[in-house]
Amino acid sequence: MNNRRILHTLEQHSIRPTPMRMLVLEHFLQQRSAQSLAELETTMPRADRITLYRTVKTFVEKGILHQVEGGPGATRYALCHDACTEGEHRDFHPHFHCTVCGQTVCLDTVHLAVPALPAGYRLSEVEMAVRGVCPGCA
Ligand SMILES: [Zn+2]
Ligand SMILES: [Zn+2]
Ligand SMILES: [Zn+2]
Repeated sequence: MNNRRILHTLEQHSIRPTPMRMLVLEHFLQQRSAQSLAELETTMPRADRITLYRTVKTFVEKGILHQVEGGPGATRYALCHDACTEGEHRDFHPHFHCTVCGQTVCLDTVHLAVPALPAGYRLSEVEMAVRGVCPGCA
């Protein structure tokens, strides 16, 4: 169903399509919330764990997924919506963590102010965690 979009996204980021990569990307396209590795393992029980981890790592390196810290439990991963490229993420938005169910979502309509850095410093990410209760738990 999303096959053309999946292939296009992989191609755009110079990633060779493999069944696992397509499966993981398809999964993320269907999710509204960020996923932890444990959650990915649960939803894809037949996937080889090491391959799954490597796929997520590749996607982060290539600018398809970004890491979300600060939520309960674990590091989560979410699809990049902005023009992220290899080694340069531009996901400068806050993340909302529901304190009841632990769901984490990108607030990607909100743009964080990126501080100007002194000469010689290179920015890799800007983090802002917002906590509260999601509509499903309210
Ligand atoms: Zn990104
Ligand atoms: Zn919730
Ligand atoms: Zn995000």
